[in-house]
Amino acid sequence: MKVFKFGGASVKDAEGIKNVASIIGKHKGERLLIVVSAMGKITNKLEELTTAYLTQREDLHQIFEAVKQYHFGILNELFTDANHPVFNDIVNTFVEIDWLIEEEPNDAPDYIYDQIVSIGELVSSKILAAYLNTLQPNVNWVDARNFIHTDNTYREGLVNWEKTNAEIEHNLKPLLMQYIGVTQGFIGSTSENFTTTLGRDGSDYSAAIFSACLSAESLTIWKDVPGVLNADPKWFDETERIPQLSYHDAIELAYYGATVIHPKTIKPIQNKNIPLYVRSFLQPDAEGTDISELKNYLPVPSFIFKVNQVLLSIFPKDFSFIIEENLSDIFSLFHNHRIKINTMLNSAISFSISFDYDEKKLESLMADLSAGYKVKYNTGVELVTIRYYNQKTIDRVTLNKNVLLEVKSRHTCQIVMRDKKETT
Ligand code: ASP
Ligand code: MG
Repeated sequence: MKVFKFGGASVKDAEGIKNVASIIGKHKGERLLIVVSAMGKITNKLEELTTAYLTQREDLHQIFEAVKQYHFGILNELFTDANHPVFNDIVNTFVEIDWLIEEEPNDAPDYIYDQIVSIGELVSSKILAAYLNTLQPNVNWVDARNFIHTDNTYREGLVNWEKTNAEIEHNLKPLLMQYIGVTQGFIGSTSENFTTTLGRDGSDYSAAIFSACLSAESLTIWKDVPGVLNADPKWFDETERIPQLSYHDAIELAYYGATVIHPKTIKPIQNKNIPLYVRSFLQPDAEGTDISELKNYLPVPSFIFKVNQVLLSIFPKDFSFIIEENLSDIFSLFHNHRIKINTMLNSAISFSISFDYDEKKLESLMADLSAGYKVKYNTGVELVTIRYYNQKTIDRVTLNKNVLLEVKSRHTCQIVMRDKKETT
C-alpha cells in the first residue's frame, strides 16, 4: 500500500486535476490511498468567509459565491455531462455552509471555523474522486472523518491515536484492498462526530497518520518544487536539491520552518520506518528527495528564512532571575495565546523569544505579560536558521544586517536580525 498526498497547488485548476490523474494512472494495479488538500488558495478564501460570517460583514455572500464559482468552473471543464452526479454532490456539500451562515454566529468561533473551512477538502476530494472514476472504475471517495479521530480542540484537533489506528487498520485497510481511496487531508472528527481541522497546512500530517496506521510501504508528497531544497528559492539564487535526507534532519528543517513539509509529518512515519518521498508533480519522473533512516549528515548547509518576526524580551519587574517558575508562567502564556515560539534565549535577567508577527495575538499577549513583567519588543525582524552552519554561512546571511540575537547548538544556528539601514 502506498499513500500519495497532493497539495492545493497540484489541484488548483482542471489542468492540475488532469495532471494528478495522469500521475495516479501510472500506478495501475497498485494499492493506493490518495490524500488531497483544498484546491489552490481555497482555504484562505474559506477563512475569509468565516471572518466575514463571524463579523456579519456584507460581502459574506459574495465571498461564498466566488468560492462556489471557482469549483463549478473547474467542474465544467472536467465533466462534459452536465447531469453527472458530482454536480449535485458538490451543491449539497456547499449547502452545509448555506445552512450555517443563515443563522446568527452563536457557536464558538473555532468550531465555526472548522465547519466552514473543512468544506474545501471535502469538495476537492469529491471532485478528484469523481474525475478519476471517469478514467478508471476502481476509485472511491473516503470520508477522512470516519478514520481520523481527534479531541474537540477546534482548529488544532489533537489526534486520538488509539482510536484512529484501530479504525484505519480494521475498517479502512480492507476497503483499500478493493479500490483506490481518495480522501481529505487536514480534517478529522470529534467523538460526537463534529468536524475538526488539524491546523493550517495539516494535510501532510493527515497523510502521515494514514501511512503510519496502514503500515504503508511509502508516502509520497507531490509538490510544486523538485524536492527538499537547501534554501527557499525566494531568498537564494543558487539552491540545491537534497537527494537524501534523514528523518532527523527532515524534522529539524520542518521544525525551523522549511515549508516543504509540515513539522508533524515525520514522526509518525519515522516510528514505522516508512520512507517519505518528496516529488514534483510537474516532473513526476524526476528524482526528488528520499527521506529515511539515514545516519549521515546533510551534504550542504540548509537555510530557513522567516520574515516578519517579533523579537520580544521579558524582564522580571523586580529584577529577580528568570527562574523556572517564571519560565513555566511565560510558556503557558504563549501557549494560551497560541503563539509558536521560533527561537528563545535565556539569560540571567531576561528571556528573549522570537515568533511570527500577528497584530491581535501580540496585543493580547502583551496585555497579559505586562501584568507581571517588563516587556520590550521589536517587530519587522527576520530569523534565519542554518542547519550545519559554519562561519562562512553565517557571514553570508548577516551581510548588511544587525544581529539582535544568535543561538547556536552543535548543528544549528539561529540568528534574529534586521537590515542595517532600518536600525536607529
Ligand atoms: N488546505 C489546508 C491549508 O491550506 C491544509 C493543507 O493544505 O495542508 O492549510
Ligand atoms: Mg492548502
